[in-house]
Formats: sequence, C-alpha cells, structure tokens
Amino acid sequence: MAEHKCSECGGEMEEGFILDRSYGTRLVSSWVKGSPEPSFWLGLSVKGKEFRTVQTWRCVQCGFLKSYAVTEVDPPSNWEY
Ligand SMILES: [Zn+2]
Repeated sequence: MAEHKCSECGGEMEEGFILDRSYGTRLVSSWVKGSPEPSFWLGLSVKGKEFRTVQTWRCVQCGFLKSYAVTEVDPPSNWEY
C-alpha cells in the first residue's frame, strides 16, 4: 500500500488494526459481506459469509481513522464458528 495521508488534515497516518476483545480472546476485526443476521446462540450468524481482515490507519495529528478491508478473503476454515 502506498503512502497514507489523512483526508481530514493531511497529516501522516500510521498502520494499525482494531482489536476485538471479547471473552478473553484478542482478535483483529473483520469486515463481513452482507447484512448482520441475528443468531440466538452466537449473537450474530456469520456462517458461510465472506470475511476480510480490517486494516486501520490512524492520523498521528488529529486521530482520524481510515479502514481498509484487505483484498485477500480469509481462508474458508475461519468462516464457520
Ligand atoms: Zn488528520
């Protein structure tokens, strides 16, 4: 990925990711294709959906966040849970 400039103030942006902290685990947030479907057992049903890891850039000057869903789709083994 090329150089990142803040669209709000033109400042430098640094790479990072949004940490998903739940039930004692630490995960990187994912972008999921489609609309959220409620699941009685799991909160949201994501079975068979397309996942992409989310990369988030932060402006060092104003804190603006810019997120990208990476181009590679996560392997199908990660999809069902
Ligand atoms: Zn900025």
